[in-house]
Amino acid sequence: MRLILMGPPGAGKGTQAKFVAEHYSVPAISTGDIFRANVSQGTPLGLEAQRYMDAGDYVPDEVTNSMVANRIAEDDAKGGFLLDGYPRTLAQVEELDAMVGERQERIDAVVVLTVEMDEIVQRLLQRAQTEGRADDTEDVIRRRQEIYAEQTEPLIEVYRERGLLVEVDGMGEVADVTARVLEALDSSPRG
Ligand code: AMP
Repeated sequence: MRLILMGPPGAGKGTQAKFVAEHYSVPAISTGDIFRANVSQGTPLGLEAQRYMDAGDYVPDEVTNSMVANRIAEDDAKGGFLLDGYPRTLAQVEELDAMVGERQERIDAVVVLTVEMDEIVQRLLQRAQTEGRADDTEDVIRRRQEIYAEQTEPLIEVYRERGLLVEVDGMGEVADVTARVLEALDSSPRG
């Protein structure tokens, strides 16, 4: 199973990614988590990524694309993967197409979690208190939502046209959302 999980910051992608990936026995690959690990280890990639992340901007495509190409080439991702937070730009969609095409594979489905804006702001402010992420301040939260709307939301139509889109209501309890995602994937027509 090769899945993409999309949704605005605060939609619950990271939480759902873990449960859904576990269900299909594939690794959950979060570009945000990989960047954060590099930042905390002070690697050159982390140093490069940090200034974009702190501002709520996207890390440049070349950096992100090669990081994902390396990650999905690892052994545990050979049989499938769930991408959490990638692709986020049209250029990343093309690059991912090339990566999976080279391997004679394809993406099976793209899940989009939909959540109301009020709920998103509440969740992110709460996460700011519990996790202390540097990019969960009010200004940066707003910036990240703007960038999502500008650069990532258009991807929804791209995947809808390809017949891969599975939209899931992301409101409510974590376990209920997971059940909705799995049910939607089970009943979605995938070739
Ligand atoms: P996330 O944990 O998915 O919200 O990602 C946190 C931050 O990492 C984002 O605000 C971006 O700065 C960066 N990031 C994560 N994934 C990507 C991506 N696919 N393209 C560019 N930047 C990304």
